[in-house]
Amino acid sequence: MKKKIAILGSTGSIGTQALEVIDKINDDIEVIALSAGNNIDLISKQIEKYSPKIVSVKTKEDAVNLQKKYPLIQILYGDEGLIKIADIENINIILVAVSGKIGLKPTIRAIQNKKDIALANKETLVMAGDIVMKLAKENNVRILPVDSEHSAIFQCINKREEVKHLIITSSGGPFRNSTIEEMENANLDDALAHPRWNMGKKITVDSATLMNKGLEVIEAHHLFNFDYDDIKVIVHPQSYIHSAVEYKDGSIIAQIGNPSMHIPIQYALTYPKRVEGIETESFDFIKAAKFEFYKPDLEKFPSLALAFKAGKLGGTYPVCMNAANEEAVFAFLEKKIKFLDIYNITKQVFDSYNSIVNPAIDDIIEEDEKIRILTREIINSI
Ligand code: MN
Repeated sequence: MKKKIAILGSTGSIGTQALEVIDKINDDIEVIALSAGNNIDLISKQIEKYSPKIVSVKTKEDAVNLQKKYPLIQILYGDEGLIKIADIENINIILVAVSGKIGLKPTIRAIQNKKDIALANKETLVMAGDIVMKLAKENNVRILPVDSEHSAIFQCINKREEVKHLIITSSGGPFRNSTIEEMENANLDDALAHPRWNMGKKITVDSATLMNKGLEVIEAHHLFNFDYDDIKVIVHPQSYIHSAVEYKDGSIIAQIGNPSMHIPIQYALTYPKRVEGIETESFDFIKAAKFEFYKPDLEKFPSLALAFKAGKLGGTYPVCMNAANEEAVFAFLEKKIKFLDIYNITKQVFDSYNSIVNPAIDDIIEEDEKIRILTREIINSI
């Protein structure tokens, strides 16, 4: 039986690579619904190529125009459009590849509708991991990780109770060998020059501060149910080991391969099967030659330590950290603040924050909004 898929965020980095995977294995997966933001040219091309039944875009205006162009397809828009996609009856799996908090509500709705989730959106677990994982368990729904580190761990864990701890690898980002002075003066191009992975801008900046790794630690805590003290981060500049787990008997199982997002995306989509995909070239151990490992420098990259702290404190502290960081990253992308201000501003907001214990989804959304406003005020006062 063909899997029927909806892709939320089909014009982004993960979404387009997912469609490349589907092109390659298209006997197995049928595209039923797609969603995009403002990239109307690309979503139009995707409509013509994949003939989805339902498409959602960001604005009503774009939806009206697309509806005229494609009268046989149902065109939706806005947050409500994504929720309606999560309600489509014959979909079995939803790839959540939108960035930001707009992924949260449709993911929850899809879980309630008992659809498997291929999760590429970090905010869903960082903001509401407790709620989402509990709901997934109650509804017997799989949360299949798309992020390369979590896909690696997912592939390495056999019996959860036999694993002692998780080892998450980090490339170290573009400033691994930079001094604090060099980071102080880093411009946008420096921060966007990621050595290993080709990704969207927000996540690339997060990789430069190591906040991305911090968000991944929080995600791993929720996905695999490990205490923060049992999650270790090591810097591995070659990015060949995508992450690993250590078992109680001292055995370590690592997932290794060329750094390509096609592989984790495909595994989430074809799970539990493995099929031949886009990456046909075998990993060359001899050519790779060297696997290096370093301890992360928390003085140069305090965002990683902040994420551990926020995760351990729980409540809405991770919501606060995530929202403040994201607003600061946006300001950096608009060249309003300097690179090191991303952390300084996030820390300032975090230190003045009072968390809510056991928040509901609406509390989380409300807090997120409040923190963003506060962060933007701080940015504008600089
Ligand atoms: Mn990752």
